[in-house]
Amino acid sequence: MSFFKDLGNKITNAAQDASKKTAELIEISKINSSINTEKAAIIETQKVIGAKIYELYAAGEQLPEILNEDLASIADRNQTILNLENKIAEIKAEAERYKAEAEAERARAEAEAERAKAEKLRAEQEAAAQAAGGRACTNCGALLEEGMKFCGQCGTRND
Ligand SMILES: [Zn+2]
Repeated sequence: MSFFKDLGNKITNAAQDASKKTAELIEISKINSSINTEKAAIIETQKVIGAKIYELYAAGEQLPEILNEDLASIADRNQTILNLENKIAEIKAEAERYKAEAEAERARAEAEAERAKAEKLRAEQEAAAQAAGGRACTNCGALLEEGMKFCGQCGTRND
């Protein structure tokens, strides 16, 4: 074999080896991907199995002792979740009570302002009636017309 032919073969072989190696790596990578898919599916199925076993435990089924600790741990955590949810409900109820109290207080203040406004008007009308030398309505303070039993403004009988 001539030197150049020999060299040519070596180069060709090296290129073939590299391409073969690349194909191997791609194949292994595909297989690993399939393995990972199977592993993930197993983990999901294990979760489903775990949930079913817990359902049996919650329903009072007798289960192998080896499961006791983990099942009790789930039961504890479920209780913790209930407690936390109750806490949220309490916070919301407290906020509702506070809101209702604030609303009632606002309504009371508004009603009180209305009463004060009406009383101020009554006192002003009464003062004006008295200044005019007439009788004032006992209810609204408006000047009663001479000889009238009923207030011309509010209709209250004044004897
Ligand atoms: Zn009146």
